[in-house]
Amino acid sequence: TILQAEPEPEERSKQEEKIRPQCLTEYIGQKDLKDVLDIAIRAAKSRQEPLDHLLLYGPPGLGKTTMSLILAQEMGVKCKIASAPALERPRDIMGLLISLQPGDVLFIDEIHRLAKVAEELLYPAMEDFRVDIPLGKGKSAKMQSMSLPPFTLVGATTRVGALTSPLRDRFGLIQRLRFYEIDELTEIVLRTAALLKMNITQSGGEEIARRARGTPRIANRLLKRVRDFAEVKAFREIDRDIAAEALQLFNVDPCGLDWTDRRLLSFMIERHNGGPVGLETLAASTGEDAQTIEEVYEPYLMQIGYLSRTPRGRVATAAAWKHLGYTPPDTHQM
Ligand code: ATP
Repeated sequence: TILQAEPEPEERSKQEEKIRPQCLTEYIGQKDLKDVLDIAIRAAKSRQEPLDHLLLYGPPGLGKTTMSLILAQEMGVKCKIASAPALERPRDIMGLLISLQPGDVLFIDEIHRLAKVAEELLYPAMEDFRVDIPLGKGKSAKMQSMSLPPFTLVGATTRVGALTSPLRDRFGLIQRLRFYEIDELTEIVLRTAALLKMNITQSGGEEIARRARGTPRIANRLLKRVRDFAEVKAFREIDRDIAAEALQLFNVDPCGLDWTDRRLLSFMIERHNGGPVGLETLAASTGEDAQTIEEVYEPYLMQIGYLSRTPRGRVATAAAWKHLGYTPPDTHQM
């Protein structure tokens, strides 16, 4: 679907890099985050030190990788990008650490999924810029310390609660990314459209923004689908109606809900009278795994007030009933 947690491989392409903001001023929205980082950058620069280690958390696609690249750019250093599940063996993370130049940014995505050995190697690296390498095997192995150049670790996670506390405590800055407002997403869509040399009206951009689930990555992805539609139909300019028609065709509804969102909510409403329903039951009803539902689908449904989490399970709110065309039961009980 249009909502996959991971970017499509094609998105890592040149075009993707072209539309990625390159500096803090090009990064739209997330004002609180930018203010904090702006201060941190200036302070680090004036002390000629690397930035403090930074943990960014929030739903996928909100610009964590982008922010990490910008930080490196602003500090005038390189950014190495890695994903925690790919750092399975100790030597994977060791190799990365040893390859760092002074001041470099090391970005580790999905850092809550780091293997225990890898995580333990990171502790002294983060704290004292040092790695401890075992010489020999088993109990008789001795440790040899090797010093590293000072660097900045930027960790990204969708689940800050899943980090161990020793790891979390080693980050000097812990910052949350919020869902974007419609006007911010409109700005992002119009900016991307300009870079892709597309003709689009303000209200066309806004229509795409409204359906983008507060997420820049989705906004850009929807824009590309609308561009395909407009090209095939030979429309010269994308306005609100064309954007709406195109996105309707791709099954994205006016609130940005896709097939899975609607299936989740209608299952809760039709089969369980709105809930509470357990996460695993919801997963089985849609064929998505529980983690994807929890990290990708639910945060937005909660953000727009369609779903709430209770100790006994998930509940569809009266707003969700209405959006799907049902009459909520007795709203006093909901
Ligand atoms: P994940 O959490 O899965 O790592 P992410 O949060 O790192 O995702 P990015 O890859 O940084 O997401 O962002 C996705 C795309 O959205 C980027 O290619 C970029 O073009 C665009 N984007 C993200 N944030 C912004 C922003 N604040 N302003 C403009 N464009 C943005």
